Parts: sequence; structure tokens; C-alpha cells
Amino acid sequence: MSRVLVIGCGGVANVAIRKCCMVPEVFSELCIASRTKSKCDELAAELAPTTTTKLTTAQVDADSVEELCALINSYKPDLVMNIALPYQDLTVMEACLACGVNYMDTANYEPEDTDDPEWKAAYEKRCKEKGFSALFDYSYQWAYRERFEQAGLTALLGCGFDPGVSQAYCAYAKKHEFDEIDTIDILDCNGGDHGYPFATNFNPEVNLREVSAPGSYWEDGHWVEIPAMSIKREYDFDQVGHKDMYLLHHEEIESLAENIPEVKRIRFFMTFGQSYLTHMKCLENVGMLSTTPIQFEGHEIVPIKFLKALLPDPASLGPRTHGKTNIGCIFTGRKDGKEKTYYIYNTCDHQACYREVKSQAVSYTTGVPAMCGAMMMLTGKWIKPGVHTVEEFDPDPFLDALDQHGLPRTENHNPVLVP
Ligand code: NDP
Repeated sequence: MSRVLVIGCGGVANVAIRKCCMVPEVFSELCIASRTKSKCDELAAELAPTTTTKLTTAQVDADSVEELCALINSYKPDLVMNIALPYQDLTVMEACLACGVNYMDTANYEPEDTDDPEWKAAYEKRCKEKGFSALFDYSYQWAYRERFEQAGLTALLGCGFDPGVSQAYCAYAKKHEFDEIDTIDILDCNGGDHGYPFATNFNPEVNLREVSAPGSYWEDGHWVEIPAMSIKREYDFDQVGHKDMYLLHHEEIESLAENIPEVKRIRFFMTFGQSYLTHMKCLENVGMLSTTPIQFEGHEIVPIKFLKALLPDPASLGPRTHGKTNIGCIFTGRKDGKEKTYYIYNTCDHQACYREVKSQAVSYTTGVPAMCGAMMMLTGKWIKPGVHTVEEFDPDPFLDALDQHGLPRTENHNPVLVP
């Protein structure tokens, strides 16, 4: 029996909410709250006849701590699932602290306004100190550790697939397969085809900012930064086939380097087709990926927001996307004094996801872990006051839940390694 407040009603939240409603014994009451209430109402009306989960909806601007507190104090949830955008992470965390509620999200904080001089100064200092220049990092949310701990509240960060399941795979490898892990390669392959010349599979603004940034990896205790898309490898993915993949900066590298301190190298690769890269480079070259507002015919517009309005809504890709995703981690290291390798991954079929929850696999592979992470918290398995990432918790009940709720694992004890 629990009462959960979900913030956001986009692609990922849609999947998480639909999956929560399939487990009413855990999610007995759910309030869907977002900026555009009509989307919440529409989803609640569709789901109500299919579930015993008691659904309500609300309008909220998650940039406002005051509005969030008013909603939390009136609904009195046991958990807030923040599935809006990374821009809202800090306001939702503040509100959870003020109202005494546990918190979770699916992506780490990123500032919306990167032109703010105060933020810029702190960011430039961080770039120099840490050695990577991504706009997002854990420092903003880790700064809340003590306050959550003192309040006796748990904050679970980044509980989607990657970040999220990728870290649970690392915790599982550490617990069951290795005494010492030397290297981790996280491979994110989307073999899906939606038939459009160019579209992003989740929020275009967040997605394009992530993939157009310099890449970086962790090696021998420090970050190595490289120009965007400058390290390319080819890999033959189970159930997908040969794909080109590129080394990206990714948020879980930062927490894994802290929580698996013996690891010598952590890299993250994502697959991209040539057409996607050519479109992205062209849009970048003409300034369409910029977050700096410009004046256009008397109006102020932010180029990347305008681009978002032109691109297909990720939520509309579901019916048209065919093919599979394959996401997982390859490890090298030692067990009982012997060198070994290990690969754990999930494959997910876009059309099967659409038939089940009217969404493509990219939202599905994020929304299902969000639901399973919430379930871990609500059943007391993942409650530990403070601010934590997924690899800090017992991976076993979480991976069992994923096996059961649509994202089963596959293991390979003799994988081809990435050069
Ligand atoms: P969408 O853009 O589809 O949805 C975002 C939702 O948040 C929308 O419903 C939007 O409302 C709402 N929202 C935005 N701003 C506010 C606000 N100020 N107040 C209230 N609601 C707001 O994004 P996705 O569903 O694709 O992504 C959701 C999250 O999941 C993101 O943080 C993303 O980075 C993360 N993600 C994580 C992955 C992982 O593997 N860990 C993979 C993919 C995504 P409106 O409808 O009005 O626009």
C-alpha cells in the first residue's frame, strides 16, 4: 500500500505510470502531476478502467519549490518520482526535504540557463578541477547528501537504464562475478528505425546537448576528455548486429569511479547511424543546438527549443519504430585469483514495447527501471538516508524485478571485448 506522486507526463513517465498501474499491490494510489495537466488527465482516463491503482492528477510547475510543496503537502505521498526534466531535479529535491518525503529521478541535474554568470563561474572551476566539460555532473545533487541524511530521507538518483540499470549491472558483477573489476565498458545500442530522416528518441534538448558534448572516460584515477565523436568502435550486438558506436561522456561513470574505486578504466559507448551524425553536425554548425537566446523578428527564441518544436515528438515514434535495443556492461577483472570477462545486457523490442505500453523501447527501457526502483524504495529494500546512486544498493531484488517486469537480463561469460 503506498501513495506516489509522479512529476512529469512525457515519454518516460508514461511508461513508468503504465507499469506502476500493473502492480497495484505496491502502487495503490498515484497522482500524476505535470506542467500540462491535460496530458495527465488523458492518461489517467485511459488507465482508470484497467487498474485498481487509484489515479488522480494535478497541475504543477516543478521549477517552483512553493508549488511543489503545496502539492506534496496536500497529497501526502510516500515517494516523489521526478520524471520531468533534469532542470527540475534541485527544486523537487528541495521540496521533498521541506515536506519530509523520499525522492527519486532518472537523470542528474543539468542547468537550463547556461548563460547565468554565477553558474558559469562554478562550472568553469569544476571543468578545471575535474577534467571534463559536460554541463551535468553529480556535484549539485551530492551537495544534498548531508541534508537528506539528517532528515532521515532517501534520494535515489538516476534510476533509468543508463544511468540506472547499468549501475545495477556493475553492482551485480562486483557482488557475484568478480573480486576485483579492472575495466567497465557500458554499451548502449539502439538498433531501432523510426523511418524519419532525423528524430531523437527522448527529449531532443537533453539528448542533443548530451551527444554534441566532448566525450570523456575514466582512466587510472582521472578523466580523459576527447573531442565529440572522435573515438569510434564497431560491435556485433546480440539480436541487433554490427553497429558503429562512439565514446560519450556519461553521468554514471562519475559515480561508478567513486563507488568501485579499484576500477582502472570506465568507458561509455552509444551507437549512432551516419545519417543521425550528419544531421546533428549540420544543425550544430548552423547554431541550431545553441541554448543562448537570440532575437528573431521581435521575439526572443532559444535555437535548441525551436528545433525541439520542429522535430517529431519522441512519444509519437512508438508505432513507427521497428528493431531492438541492446544495453549492457562488459567487465574484465579477477575472481579467485583468475582473470575473467563478463557481459550482462538486456535486449528490448520496440514493437513489443509499443504493443504493451504504446511506447518505443527507449522510453520503455527508462520507465520500467524507474517503476522498479520506486518499488524497491516503497517496499523498504532500497531505503538508506542520504543521496545515493543505484550501484550503492543491493542489485539482486532490482534485477529480479526487471526480469519480471519486461527487461530480463542475458549473461555471457566469454564476450568479445571492445578494443
Ligand atoms: P519529455 O520531454 O517527454 O517529458 C518531460 C515531462 O516533464 C513533460 O511531461 C513536461 O511537461 C514535464 N515538465 C517539463 N518541465 C516541467 C516543469 N517545469 N514543471 C512540471 N513538469 C514539467 O522527457 P522524457 O520523458 O523523454 O524524459 C524524462 C526524463 O528521463 C529526463 O530527465 C531524461 O533526461 C530522463 N531519461 C533518462 C534515461 C536513462 O536511461 N536514465 C533515458 C532517457 C531519458 P509538458 O508536457 O508540459 O512539456
